[in-house]
Amino acid sequence: MPNVLFAAPAEDWPRYEPHLHRACRARGITINLVPETDDPASMDYIVYNPEGGLEDFTPFTRLRAVLSLWAGVEGIAPNPTLTVPLARMVDDGLTLGMRDYVAGHVLRYHLDIDASLASQTGVWLPDPPPLARERSVAVLGQGALGLACAEALAGLGFRVVGWSRSPKPPHPAIEREHGADGLARTLSRAEILVLLLPATRATENLLDASRLALLPRGARIINPGRGTLIDDGALLAALDSGQVAHATLDVFREEPLPPDHPYWTHPRVTVTPHIAAATRPETASETIAENIRRGEAGEPLLHLVDRSLGY
Ligand code: NAP
Repeated sequence: MPNVLFAAPAEDWPRYEPHLHRACRARGITINLVPETDDPASMDYIVYNPEGGLEDFTPFTRLRAVLSLWAGVEGIAPNPTLTVPLARMVDDGLTLGMRDYVAGHVLRYHLDIDASLASQTGVWLPDPPPLARERSVAVLGQGALGLACAEALAGLGFRVVGWSRSPKPPHPAIEREHGADGLARTLSRAEILVLLLPATRATENLLDASRLALLPRGARIINPGRGTLIDDGALLAALDSGQVAHATLDVFREEPLPPDHPYWTHPRVTVTPHIAAATRPETASETIAENIRRGEAGEPLLHLVDRSLGY
């Protein structure tokens, strides 16, 4: 029976424990799941939430894999004490949550819902929005979340461009771009820009002043990816100049966003508190249990992180 350490904040233990056991039982495996251990050398797997505080993996000499509850692994991927495979979270809860968040905020911009809310003044201004098929949306990142969002937006009729690091095969509903030239082409058409890239060395400040200048004037930005993707000073300047008409930001370099940060009070910024897609115990436990089953059966794990790339 594998020993599994649940390394997460204490309040998560009662939320996850029954689901992890249930999902493992459904796969015919029984685990010895513990919320803490004084015998790290006996642990086979770690279910990992960075907020649990575990940073030194050296004492876990028998460890087979670390199974992250988070999709973003920028905190653990560079950890030099980690020498076993690291799998990240990909599951329906995250994917559907992100799809809902992105679709909602894209539609807010597309339909100019803010203008409707602000114009309850008795003045009749018949000015219909364009159709979705007349609006270009770009999604930077075509992984588990970016692709699901791009497909949902294409399903609503938007003209969608998806940008990734590596080239992808043609998609029936999404125009695909990659690499530096592809980024310039993608940004130049992004009336609404969605950021779903991981935080890595290569994506740090990806959206700087020069890239913001490539957007169509008055573009809108939605960032549920990571705060490090954006040069904050450059975005504030672009918002002030009108180059960017509005930004909806869910993630920040420092979280919670400090009370005196200019994003809180900027009239053309909406702050959401890192709630775009939460890890849900019911669905996340399925991914964890499947990887434990695979580990025990000697099969390759799902959603492995390439630590040289950082995601
Ligand atoms: P993923 O499956 O690993 O996909 C990452 C995508 O980004 C891939 O398409 C990848 O390109 C692309 N990419 C990475 N580095 C790049 C670079 N230098 N240039 C161009 N493209 C690059 O990740 P995911 O599951 O979709 O999650 C994306 C991010 O969402 C996570 O890392 C996390 O930061 C964030 N997130 C936020 C929340 C929230 O609540 N706000 C919740 C969950 C996740 P390739 O396809 O070529 O590899």
